[in-house]
Amino acid sequence: MRISLDMDSVIAESVLPTVKWIQENKGQTFEVSQVSSWDWIQDTFKLTLPEVLDMYGKIWGGWWNEVPPTEEDITSKVQKLNTIGDMMIVTSANPEQATGKLKWMKKWGLQNIPLVIVPYNATKEALLFDVYIDDRAQTCLEVAKVGKLALVYRQPWNAGLEESSNLIYIKDLNEAIKQLEERGVSC
Ligand SMILES: [Mg+2]
Repeated sequence: MRISLDMDSVIAESVLPTVKWIQENKGQTFEVSQVSSWDWIQDTFKLTLPEVLDMYGKIWGGWWNEVPPTEEDITSKVQKLNTIGDMMIVTSANPEQATGKLKWMKKWGLQNIPLVIVPYNATKEALLFDVYIDDRAQTCLEVAKVGKLALVYRQPWNAGLEESSNLIYIKDLNEAIKQLEERGVSC
């Protein structure tokens, strides 16, 4: 069983440096709980495309070392998932950001897990995975639509999806582990 594990906002709390970028560049602040969609930050702070690219470039290109994990004991939880199935971390990044993401994975003891880079705004359902742990609503919906299992990592911006047998909210990675163990998913 192949597992796709998302990186931003699933194992890495990369929205926090986003708050920092907005503070430094727009002089404004916001709470993570206010973020209602992926476009919310862009719309609220009227970011131009070059600003958006600068922000995301800064977060993983420059500030990767300041990105905290989403949960305590992230290393053991991710490594546990990696024993349940054949897992890869699947994320979008330009080459500079990919370098930062690899450094982050090494820092948190995840360098043994393959990193797969997909284009920005791409959904992942066509990739050769059976299970997707992701916070992006659109990705989870597309995954479920093609009959694969979407474990929706609960965040303020993905609320309100209709749960089904193959679209299930999880509040943390322990719930993902439990779901997959209960389903008898094995390599
Ligand atoms: Mg994400």
